[in-house]
Amino acid sequence: MAEHTDVLIVGAGPAGLFAGFYVGMRGLSFRFVDPLPEPGGQLTALYPEKYIYDVAGFPKIYAKDLVKGLVEQVAPFNPIYSLGERAENLEKVGDHFKVTTSKGNAYTAKAVIIAAGVGAFEPRRIGAPGEMEFEGKGVYYAVRAKAEFAGKRVLIVGGGDSAVDWALNLLDTAQEITLIHRRPQFRAHEASVKELMQAHEEGRLRVLTPYEVRRIEGDEWVRRVVIFHNQTQEEIPLEVDAVLILAGYITKLGPLAHWGLELEKNKIKVDTTMATSIPGVYACGDIVTYPGKLPLIVLGFGEAAIAANHAAAYANPALKVNPGHSSEKVS
Ligand SMILES: Cc1cc2nc3c(=O)[nH]c(=O)nc-3n(C[C@H](O)[C@H](O)[C@H](O)COP(=O)(O)OP(=O)(O)OC[C@H]3O[C@@H](n4cnc5c(N)ncnc54)[C@H](O)[C@@H]3O)c2cc1C
Repeated sequence: MAEHTDVLIVGAGPAGLFAGFYVGMRGLSFRFVDPLPEPGGQLTALYPEKYIYDVAGFPKIYAKDLVKGLVEQVAPFNPIYSLGERAENLEKVGDHFKVTTSKGNAYTAKAVIIAAGVGAFEPRRIGAPGEMEFEGKGVYYAVRAKAEFAGKRVLIVGGGDSAVDWALNLLDTAQEITLIHRRPQFRAHEASVKELMQAHEEGRLRVLTPYEVRRIEGDEWVRRVVIFHNQTQEEIPLEVDAVLILAGYITKLGPLAHWGLELEKNKIKVDTTMATSIPGVYACGDIVTYPGKLPLIVLGFGEAAIAANHAAAYANPALKVNPGHSSEKVS
């Protein structure tokens, strides 16, 4: 028999976790389903050791610490985590929803909150010979822990915020940093690019443009990368211990695209109550669209509060939507 909770939350990123907190505050049971092995969504998977500067009340906070706080905040409400499984199908069975997952499990709930972020995300590969071969053997697509790069000669590939920020951020950790980008112009924040070029001029790292990767070589680990100037074709061999490819992410809505939800440009359309086009199914975070939407964590938190309280009142019509103030609750 399918396991039942009052509310099922698809996605345990920041928006999903905070939605869980509010559902719990309303006295309802809930389950998170997420294909990743740990909660935290993009913050855990892509940038755990980057500072976030725009979460209200925190002048700066590591992404991993924000996730730790969210997990701690929701813990008293006994969340059920079904991690390592992706929500595949949604169907209405009588007065409840049934969600089946990639592990073949079926979970039922009276209301569903979709907080699936950008859907399934995978790193954009550059297609260089050796890239796939050395994945996990010196080729990285994200910095999970700065310590992995300690004392290493690192080649960073990319011209956006991630590439520029990590080049600067690893200065105190890596032995040597070379950053290459296929264009002379960077897409990163102006202030970061200025800082990067200053570090280059001071000899603290090396920036080479317009350069690309010709091939990645090694034995059981990456040893060398041959880069080339994409106009003159001149090649430079670099001895490296790690190649950090930060060329962005390819995102796909995945199975949610077939759930019968009204979509706009691969995002789920919601109204001001965060209701989707399916009654009883709410959504919040990066996955939603409405006029004025911005893909920011703080907005995801606000949307999660709206989605969760409306979902709670849908799951239990005896509840009012307005939760009252948490400061007035007796702990
Ligand atoms: C490098 C980087 C830096 C950033 N810096 C900032 C910043 O400084 N400030 C800021 O506000 N924002 C920042 N962002 C954006 C921020 O991370 C996102 O806005 C935020 O993560 C969105 O939260 P979310 O919970 O909606 O989605 P996500 O964090 O994407 O989490 C969604 C979760 O849903 C899961 N999921 C997907 N499909 C399914 C499915 N079918 N079934 C079950 N689960 C599913 C995913 O595995 C994931 O765990 C940054 C993003 C990146 C990549």
